[in-house]
Amino acid sequence: MEKNDLKALIEEIYQNLLERVNSQEEATKGQVICYLRDAIEVVSNINDKDIDSIEHAREAFSNSYKELVKQSLSSYKNSNEIFGELSQLNKETINQYSEKHIDLQTLTEKFDEIQSHMTKEVSKANEVISELTSKVKVLEETSNLDPLTKVFNRRALISYLREVCANKDIPYHLHILMIDIDNFKSINDNYGHITGDKILIFISNILRKALRDGDKIFRFGGEEFTIILSRNSDEESESIAKRLLKLISSNNLIYMGQKISITASIGLTKYLKDDTPDSLMARADKALYTSKNNGKNMVSKVYE
Ligand code: GH3
Ligand code: MG
Ligand code: MG
Repeated sequence: MEKNDLKALIEEIYQNLLERVNSQEEATKGQVICYLRDAIEVVSNINDKDIDSIEHAREAFSNSYKELVKQSLSSYKNSNEIFGELSQLNKETINQYSEKHIDLQTLTEKFDEIQSHMTKEVSKANEVISELTSKVKVLEETSNLDPLTKVFNRRALISYLREVCANKDIPYHLHILMIDIDNFKSINDNYGHITGDKILIFISNILRKALRDGDKIFRFGGEEFTIILSRNSDEESESIAKRLLKLISSNNLIYMGQKISITASIGLTKYLKDDTPDSLMARADKALYTSKNNGKNMVSKVYE
């Protein structure tokens, strides 16, 4: 990453902090320190290897912030539930006393006072929860990162392809690799969904490590990834695709002493003049279909 990129990122984090302070009517010293702690936690949650470009770093930052908001949201919800239960208990106690006609007027009044205070607090906390919930929703809807694998998501792919296709005359080759893990359903059936998720993270890390700066990885959906290679010849792209398959199949993943066998299939195509995102992806899909039909764990290409 360039120095200017880093400066832009730091500026963005700083703006984010300022926004949070500005959104408060009155920002106390304690709150500001709290925000600073949040920001430090957000930054320390970002994994070094996730950051291979400024846009990725930006996404990682916003993703990490989202996770933090989510965490505080759930702990807020928890304590609020406990608060609610306590308040209910108080109410019951008051009712018990009044049913027994015990003359505890002052005590009841005191309880009432506490009760009304608690009710106010609970409703205030509920407001905060609903505000945080909508914040998480907005962050999720605008995120370009896949939360599981931390590679770009399908939304990012579509907007990237739209940009590419609007540009018509691209002065270099763009190759598209559609990667689909073979027999992933039976991997889930044999080893469980959680292991399946870990394998998806593992594969995305293999892909990330094997590619150069400027190449882009997206999680297209479920067990499908899309890679965009720029500035490679047809032959180079094909040999990169083959190398990726080799890396995936020669992994050493062990589950309870047993080696998990993983392979994938690839469909390869490239951007042609007048392509739309749909026509481009349809060709990649067609090529992938050929690999699947011819026995999987292979690369097939469709260039027209
Ligand atoms: P093929 O070789 O033809 O691609 O077979 P397949 O089993 O990989 O393909 P299929 O489309 O039948 O099944 C895909 C499976 O991927 C089914 C689904 O449960 C699983 N899957 C999709 N998303 C996730 C995920 O996020 N985590 C896990 N663990 N599994 C997922
Ligand atoms: Mg699939
Ligand atoms: Mg599959």
